Amino acid sequence: MHWASATAIVFPALLALCAGQQQQPLSEVGHSGSSHSPPASADAPSWRDELLQLLEALVSTPSANGQENGVGQFLVDYLQQAQYQVDIQFVPPPKDHPDVPDRFNVLAWRGERKPSYKTLVTSHIDVVPPHIPWEIEGGEVSKKTIIKGRGTTDAKGSVATQIVAVNHLLSTNSDVNPEDLILLFVVGEETTGDGMRLFSDSLKHMDPPLSFDSAIFGEPTENKLACGHKGALFCSAVAKGKDAHSGYPEMGKSANELMIRAMNKILDTDLGSSPLFGNTTFNVGRFDGGVAANVIPAKAFVDLAARVAVGSEREGHRVVQQKIADILKETDEDAFAFECTHGYGPYECNCDVEGFEPTIVNYGTDIPNLDADYVRYLYGPGSILVAHGDHEYITVGDLEKAVEDYQKLILHAISQ
Ligand SMILES: [Zn+2]
Repeated sequence: MHWASATAIVFPALLALCAGQQQQPLSEVGHSGSSHSPPASADAPSWRDELLQLLEALVSTPSANGQENGVGQFLVDYLQQAQYQVDIQFVPPPKDHPDVPDRFNVLAWRGERKPSYKTLVTSHIDVVPPHIPWEIEGGEVSKKTIIKGRGTTDAKGSVATQIVAVNHLLSTNSDVNPEDLILLFVVGEETTGDGMRLFSDSLKHMDPPLSFDSAIFGEPTENKLACGHKGALFCSAVAKGKDAHSGYPEMGKSANELMIRAMNKILDTDLGSSPLFGNTTFNVGRFDGGVAANVIPAKAFVDLAARVAVGSEREGHRVVQQKIADILKETDEDAFAFECTHGYGPYECNCDVEGFEPTIVNYGTDIPNLDADYVRYLYGPGSILVAHGDHEYITVGDLEKAVEDYQKLILHAISQ
């Protein structure tokens, strides 16, 4: 595996590789457009500026579609300045963006690197496109202040609050052993999960070895503690018909008609439910077929995603895949080609921690990609309902609650 000490070997090389796009010193990052911080309200915790400056730097560095180099470099520098030891793990470029600069996972800890930790604190540093610049509401900053920008919620808000929570916990709580905690920030979560999968694979032959009793995943849960998330299934289907003049439909076979009938049946079918996760839902995300209004279409295709609420973690998606395959076959014995690229069943997490409101989320996370034996927690500031959208935002209050809550969650996890 391509782990390397950021201090000793790789970091200077990285700087050379990335010349011209180095970060600004932190003192210059601050609040854009002004040389001093906006006035803070009386409700400000002592670490508010540290938190907002860190989040601003993260959000201001674009990191979509395999382009995580800049934000990774920033994090390495930031964590080293904050007295962490840092390793980076190179992740190959995504297939559809082969020429991106080096991208890497970032692993950070205090003191000696031990073979086992109580808790891994982790989130992802990639975001969905397009980049949306950082923008903070004017006037006095209070808990209600809104911050807009790509990644404020998903998931740079989690990254920043996790780091500030750990910094604060280690500097104020002498009962916490810094060597119980290790931080991991991965690339590629929004696309294939290649960052976390590479990290997971590398656990088998890491030197020194690395294990952890629990892992805290940062994703937007509206400051609630998730009891789990639904599984997922991603597929495409092609219907093959026969073209003909639209005045003589009996001379052809409409691929569009077959596809419409099949999709309608699937939408009306119970694809499975469970008390914890609710219903499996089904989305025809892309639908295309035919060539013109007066031609019986010979070909139709769809891209599909199901959010899986049934079955085991490893195999739950196969239950849904089989139901869809059966309906396609019922609709037409041999018109359909059906292929699924990947999937997994619903994943449960530990939500039995005092002081947290439980929830279930319907989106995927990197949890299925971290294949090891550990207790999972899933928590983060912000709402998934604004993540990935044009108006992604978060409030200062949600961020500050997350810093408090991550500290509680870490204390709980390391006491187990
Ligand atoms: Zn995310």
